[in-house]
Order: sequence, then C-alpha cells, then structure tokens
Amino acid sequence: MNFLIQPKKYKSLMADDGSRAVMEKTVDFFEDMGKTQLLDDYNKKIWYKEFVDFIGKEQIFAKLLTPKKYADGDEDCRWDTARNSEYSELLAFYGLGYWYCFQVTILGLGPIWMSPNEKAKKKAARLLKEGAIFAFGLSERTHGADIYSTETNLTPKDDGTWVANGEKYYIGNGNEAEMVSTLGKIKDGTDDYTYFVTNYQHKAYELKKNVISHQEYVSNFALHDYPITEDDILSRGPHAWDSSLNTVNIGKFNIGPASIGVAEHCFYEAITHAANRILYGMRVTDMPHVRKNFMDAWLRLVAMKLYQRRSSDYFRGASENDRRYLLYNPTSKMKVTLQAEDVINLLWDVIAAKGFEKDTYFHMAAADIRGPSKLEGTVHVNIQLIRKFMKSYFFNPAEYEPVAPDFSFNDDLFLFNQGSTKGLGKVRFHDYAPVFEANKDLPNVATFIKQIEIFKGLVEKAGPDKMQDMDPSFSLPLGEMFSIVVYGQLILEQTKLEDVEPDIINQIFDFMVRDFAGFALQIYGNHSSRDEQRLFCKEIMLIKAVADDAQYQRVWGKYVFALDGEYAMNE
Ligand SMILES: Cc1cc2nc3c(=O)[nH]c(=O)nc-3n(C[C@H](O)[C@H](O)[C@H](O)COP(=O)(O)OP(=O)(O)OC[C@H]3O[C@@H](n4cnc5c(N)ncnc54)[C@H](O)[C@@H]3O)c2cc1C
Repeated sequence: MNFLIQPKKYKSLMADDGSRAVMEKTVDFFEDMGKTQLLDDYNKKIWYKEFVDFIGKEQIFAKLLTPKKYADGDEDCRWDTARNSEYSELLAFYGLGYWYCFQVTILGLGPIWMSPNEKAKKKAARLLKEGAIFAFGLSERTHGADIYSTETNLTPKDDGTWVANGEKYYIGNGNEAEMVSTLGKIKDGTDDYTYFVTNYQHKAYELKKNVISHQEYVSNFALHDYPITEDDILSRGPHAWDSSLNTVNIGKFNIGPASIGVAEHCFYEAITHAANRILYGMRVTDMPHVRKNFMDAWLRLVAMKLYQRRSSDYFRGASENDRRYLLYNPTSKMKVTLQAEDVINLLWDVIAAKGFEKDTYFHMAAADIRGPSKLEGTVHVNIQLIRKFMKSYFFNPAEYEPVAPDFSFNDDLFLFNQGSTKGLGKVRFHDYAPVFEANKDLPNVATFIKQIEIFKGLVEKAGPDKMQDMDPSFSLPLGEMFSIVVYGQLILEQTKLEDVEPDIINQIFDFMVRDFAGFALQIYGNHSSRDEQRLFCKEIMLIKAVADDAQYQRVWGKYVFALDGEYAMNE
C-alpha cells in the first residue's frame, strides 16, 4: 500500500465521476506538459496562462468552488472541503504556484459566498463558469496582519454610489481576477468595514507590479476613484469584519494539503535518486543515517496526511454547536506546514547537491516550502490561537456523537455562515484520552500518554504566569506541546478509520515522543521558566521512545524503500 499520492495510479477519495474527472484531467494536464516545461516555466517565472486556460476550459474552479444553489443544475458543483483538500494536494504536487492560483480564488470567493448580495453571487457563479479566477484584496503594504489600520476607503457620492481609493499589496491573482473582494472602510462618518468587488480590467484599477519574483502573480494594485455601486458591496460593519476572519479560516485549511503535495513529490525524487546512487560500493540508502532520514521523513509525511484527512471530517461537520474545527484548523496550518519543512530538510540532507539541480522538482520545492507556514498567520499567530483552547481541551471535555468520515456530496455551507469570530475559549472538545487508551498496547503510544499526563500536570499545577504568557520563548514551545497532543489524537482517530498497521502507528509515535521531549527541553532551558515548571519538563524530556529495530526495518522495507522508482513525472 502506498500512502502517498501517485498520479500515474491516481486514486481519488471522491466517489463521483465528476470529481474523479477533475482530478484525472489535472494529472493529464501536467503530465502532458511534462517536467521540462514545468520547471522551465517556473525558472523563467512565466505566468501560467496555459493552466488558467485549462482550468477555464474544463470549468474546474466552477465545479470545485460553486455551491449547488448557484450551480445552475451542474451536478458536479459543490463546495466540499474534502474535495478541495484533495485538489490542493494534487496541484501543489506539481507546483505550489499552481496551487496558489486556486488558493487565492478560494479566498476571493469567501466574502462573496458569505455575502447577502445575491447579484454578486450570481455574477461570481457565472464568471466561474466562464473560467475566471478571483482574488482576495485584504493586505496593505504597511499594515501586515493589522487589518484595523486598513486605509483603502469608500467615499460616498451624492447619488448614493461611492468611489474607492487606496492601495493593496500582496494580492494573488490581482493581475487577472475578474472579482477582487476588496476590504476597505466607509468614509461616511461610521468608518465601517466593507468588502466590495473590483475588477482588474477597470481603468481606475492600476496594476502596479508583481511584488514577488515568481510565476504566480502577487500583485500591488491601486484604486483611483474606482466607482462602486450597491451591487458591488458584499458586506458592511461587523459582517465585513467577520468575513475577513472567516474567509481566512477557510483558506487556512487549504494550506496543509499543499505542503503535503509538495513533500510527496520531493519524496519520490529523493528516494529514487538515493536508492540508485552507489558510493564507496554501497547504495546510499544502505547508509544508516540516510535510512533514518527517509524513515523520519516518510513517517512524518504519513502522519501529516492522517491528521489532515481526519480534521477535514470535523471541518465538514462544523456547525454553530460544533466548532472544534477552530482548533483543528490552526493546528493543521501550523503543524502540517512545519512538518513539511522538516520533511524537505531531512530529504535534502540526503540528496544534497541533487536538490539544487534545475531539472528537479526538488529545487523548486526547496525554495517554496517555507512559504506556507508564514502566510495567513505566522506560526506564532497560530500557536497563540491554539493556546486559547488548551484549558477547555484538557479539563472540560464534552460529549459529541462520533464524527464519521465525510465524503458526502454536500456543500459545506456552514463555512459561509460561521458567525461571530469571538468566544473561542468556550469551544468544547470530545475527550482526547480514549483514543490514546485504545492504542496503549503500542509502546510508543503508551510512552506518549505518559508525556501527556505530565504535560497536563504542568498546565494545571505550574501553568504560565502573565509574563510567560506574553513571552514567545515560553509560550511557543508550550503551544507546540499542546498541539502535538491534538495532532496525535486526530492521527490515531484516522489510523483506526484507515486500518493502518500497528507497526506504522508505533513508529509514528516514536518521532512524536522525541518531538514532545524536544519542546520540553526548550521550556526547561528558557530563562523565565520556574523551578517547578522545569521539574515537569525534565520528566517529559527524559522519557525515551521505545526502540524496535525489527519493526523499524519492516516499515523501511515494506513502505519506504519500496517507493524507489514508484513515480517519476513525464519528461
Ligand atoms: C506570497 C504571498 C502571497 C500573499 N497573498 C495574499 C493575498 O492574496 N491576499 C491578501 O490579502 N494578502 C496576501 N498576502 C499577505 C499575507 O497574508 C501577509 O503575510 C499578512 O497580511 C501578514 O502581514 P506580514 O507578513 O507583513 O506580517 P506582519 O503583520 O507585519 O507581522 C509581523 C510579525 O508580527 C507578528 N504578529 C502579527 N500579528 C500578530 C498577533 N495578532 N499576535 C501575535 N503576533 C502577531 C507576526 O507573527 C509576525 O512575526 C500574501 C503574502 C505573500 C508573501
């Protein structure tokens, strides 16, 4: 069994022909293009017009991103988080730049599908059908994450219309987006936030430049007295504010799968290179440290996939009474993207010079992979968010019906109606302990349980004081320790659903135990840690994963080394 996607033996998670066709046509598009052109376009930073044309011709964004209500009877259309995750992984497998075009289209559509403006929604559906791409115009150059300081504005005119002025920076697809959901403030005395729609072709829309050096287009554009009517207004006041955060919530969940796709392609290249390279008369993959790196990389990659898959069930099942996704989402964003960076580092240490070569996918991935953890909230921002749930998660569990794997053909409409972004501390979670207990026969899961118990003691009896809360060198590793528990919980839930072999689970928890100990060491060594906190950390970090060499070799041979030659992109 291969846990990684293999485009040439592609198995979609989706049960319907329409979705499968979307995936298969996309594979064919890239394999027909071939690796030589893919990399040449990347290296020459050529805007991917052929890809945008392909997406339009096959109505792919229309199918993936139009809720049924606006689909005009096209049965392939729905907004399905599981399907969009799968598609993100596939696009990023061929290049993060292609994924980015999809990602910012998703973001651009967020404030539209959340809007009460029916005309704008119908227009978006029509444009999607015609093959349009979209953009999300939130950021401004000098304000970064501080959207309170937004300067773009609408000034009312006597006839009830407005003119928009201001400048946006870092706006993906801003060179060709038919609808740019643009955030501004209304200068009518209220200073209300508003989302309104702009179009790149209008003469009052000045496309200034691509801010980055890449084939994707991350625009800087300016609006000069851009005329706006009621038809262009998507939202106002608190609704507009919530639309920003709720749209980022949707987009954020799409980033983990992209990192996974990148790491998968790199894995194939790396193992096939190393397994066929002979140094000093031996295969490179026979060197113990090389084997260790591949094992670690593969186990981390499988864990990323298991976590992401399971969290999408919670995402799809979200409702106003079940907001657990609000924790699982930043955990995906922070953890999966950082794990992907680790995977690339591990592989690069093995393939060394090969990873620089311009005819490898790897060299492109090595440059791009550090992006996902930083955008739509840095690691820091996501960990601070995650920590808000810690007390509720550990000390106030609630009963929920079990959430089944969700591959239904439903629209995930709650995502466009998430409501207020407040009250995170009140969100409750099902008890994490039973799924760990159910796997405690596996020595490394049992070890991990011990670490959790000590960590829980630390939080309960020696939690951070106010100063430590404000100090990232303390709060970040603390948040990491919490998130690794959440990560482990959902991984275990998914292993049951996929019937993953105990050998693999136990080896995954080998690295999880090591990571847990590593974060404890960071707190232990922190200047501001108190003695009582150090005692808890010392206990955690002295716990060792349980070695099982026979099991390690079994997983290596059956799953990891077996990927030598499994996939190579068409030249
Ligand atoms: C390639 C690329 C594509 C992008 N695409 C888009 C797009 O399509 N649309 C769009 O609107 N934007 C886009 N962005 C902008 C992106 O979302 C910004 O990174 C974001 O607005 C944050 O701004 P900043 O990176 O300048 O960081 P800043 O906001 O300047 O943050 C600086 C530091 O402050 C910290 N910080 C900020 N806020 C907090 C907080 N609340 N709590 C704790 N720490 C905090 C951060 O961790 C960070 O370390 C893109 C950016 C890039 C580079």
